Amino acid sequence: MKKPRPRLPFFPADAFYARPFPGWEYHVHSLFSDGSSTLPTLIDYARSLGITRLIFTEHTEPGLVDGEGWFKRYWREGNELRQQERAMRNRKGFSSPSSDMEILFGLEVPITDFRGGLLMDAEMAEKAEFILGAVHAYPGYGWTMGELPPEQAIELEFKGLMALAENPLVDAIAHPGGICEKFAAPFPFSLFEEVVRKATGNGIAIELNPAYQSPMAPYLDICCRHSALISPGSNVHHLENIGQAAHELKKLQKKRSVIQNVNPHPRRGDTP
Ligand SMILES: [Zn+2]
Ligand SMILES: [Zn+2]
Repeated sequence: MKKPRPRLPFFPADAFYARPFPGWEYHVHSLFSDGSSTLPTLIDYARSLGITRLIFTEHTEPGLVDGEGWFKRYWREGNELRQQERAMRNRKGFSSPSSDMEILFGLEVPITDFRGGLLMDAEMAEKAEFILGAVHAYPGYGWTMGELPPEQAIELEFKGLMALAENPLVDAIAHPGGICEKFAAPFPFSLFEEVVRKATGNGIAIELNPAYQSPMAPYLDICCRHSALISPGSNVHHLENIGQAAHELKKLQKKRSVIQNVNPHPRRGDTP
């Protein structure tokens, strides 16, 4: 059963060309998993870039986390930092708009089977404020996607993504098709589209992630076609990755508006 988690704000693809994409970053790893910076360093840097919502998404794979009891430490430190952030914001006389940043502590959770299994314990499921569901190692095959026949890798990735698109615990799907694309074979857009359709029908967001989807435009177009919810994630492992997804999306908004200005839709009857 889905726990009552507050509905997270995602960007509706329907509004993509109607309003500027916000400074959101929804896919960040710190030293609590395999990122290269501490939480305070990432928070300070994100604030300096004008990020308005920062969501940490630590891995849960045992080989990628910071040892025994890491989740409790992550949760404790994260909440202390968030309180400091709020106190700073509320401090009398402190009124810098760039300090206005919301921080959430979530997880990037891989599938463990094709029937809804996710790699997290009960405490994680209860506390995490954002579940970014991911297909990483293919269940039953491990990290061997590069050795599989391409059609099998595609099929396994697709099955895993469809399981995420139906999982009520999942808020957004990380880099759909990205593992297959990066390590095995090009992942067909037609299957990406099926995942988008299913996830959108279930209120689950689709991550647009420049680390895996480059160029991003065709993925965005599919999201727009199906009125998807967009989760901007840069797969941040280093400070300089923060905000890349939002930056790419803003670039696409600008490009499109330039094209529209140069080449407006011709009105019916306007011939030569
Ligand atoms: Zn991932
Ligand atoms: Zn990641």
